[in-house]
Amino acid sequence: MKQDLIQVTSTASAGTSTHRATGALVASVRDLSVHFDTKAGSVHAVDGVSFDIRDGETLGLVGETGCGKSVTARSFLRLVATPPGIYAGGRIDFWSSEAQEAGGGPVNLLTIADDEMLEIRGNRIAMIFQDPSKALNPALSIGDQLAEVFFQHRSNELLAPLGPNVPMIVRRAARQESGQFERIVLQLPPLRSKAAKMRAQVDDLVAGALAETQIPNPRRIMASYPHELSGGMKQRVLIAQALACNPDLLIADEPTTALDVTIQARILNLIAELQQRLGTSVLYISHDLSLVREICDRVAVMYAGRIVETGRTVDLFRQPLHPYTRSLMSAIPSSTSERGRLAAIAGTVPELIDPQPSCRFHSRCPYALEVCREVDPRFLRHDVDHGVACHGHDDPTDLGLRPGDVPTLEPAIQ
Ligand code: SF4
Repeated sequence: MKQDLIQVTSTASAGTSTHRATGALVASVRDLSVHFDTKAGSVHAVDGVSFDIRDGETLGLVGETGCGKSVTARSFLRLVATPPGIYAGGRIDFWSSEAQEAGGGPVNLLTIADDEMLEIRGNRIAMIFQDPSKALNPALSIGDQLAEVFFQHRSNELLAPLGPNVPMIVRRAARQESGQFERIVLQLPPLRSKAAKMRAQVDDLVAGALAETQIPNPRRIMASYPHELSGGMKQRVLIAQALACNPDLLIADEPTTALDVTIQARILNLIAELQQRLGTSVLYISHDLSLVREICDRVAVMYAGRIVETGRTVDLFRQPLHPYTRSLMSAIPSSTSERGRLAAIAGTVPELIDPQPSCRFHSRCPYALEVCREVDPRFLRHDVDHGVACHGHDDPTDLGLRPGDVPTLEPAIQ
């Protein structure tokens, strides 16, 4: 089942990161629940999700559309609209490199103050969205959009070349806090030269960030507007924006879905190369298991708002434990398979309105028994790094059942 179309290479040398020791936690999600109030009831889009992201690794979060992957990802930056969304429970602990260097511990991203979240968003945690056309503002030039990141998070760097005793009005301009009157005053000498110097400094940083993504002629791109760029170029701009502040965690939410296959491969190579060089941890969201196999160190499989299996990529593909994971793998097209209809998983993801206890995959699972329709499966460790939530891997006596009352799964795909 090796991916046939896309080969992602990692050619970068070892990182120059100032991050924590390899294997340390960057983020820890515990029992995260995000619900949506609707007229029909409460939709449990994310329901008790737990997983960890470690320093420098790429974790793949996979599942069909509507499984709760994007809602999970957006929860890191509190981008779920509330209402109708509700953070119904759980926590997301995040260890920023800056806090660690200052001797601090993790912060719970769901409960920190809004101004703390503003400091983290786009700075320590950045996100690349699915559709670059929708993520960029059509009314602003690329240069102005990228400059916002530096004004927001790197204002000290912009002021450094101006020397000591920088007037407050210029300091406010470096944080984009100027009012209309201040902007007029900044046009007058001697402030005009300082403002121009600062703008030149921003332009250099923006051009440098664009050059990192191997975009040709960055200065020309800075003067362009989004509608003048191709989909691949726009995605490079978003990558430049996301990595401008060397974040600890990059969330890539299906970043290549809107691109054709050749551009997809280049963008994935670029993310892998930058990740290795900068030492950034990546949460990579995708419905494409074959792609995840190529770029991720570990994988978490999500179904109907829950994590059903996690493991190192190599273990998960060698021995998938959950029937849903096996179904996803069977659906990967291969150049060696016979021509004809593509394999599909029968049925659809269930509606998640006020769900009752059960395995949520039971209506599509060929092994389902009575217990699957009535009892939530526990998440069990198969070995240190491989876990699964399925009654077929549970001990029937722990459930008060006899061996024949729990599903007997076929051997895993080897
Ligand atoms: Fe299938 Fe039952 Fe396992 Fe769910 S718990 S995946 S229905 S065997």
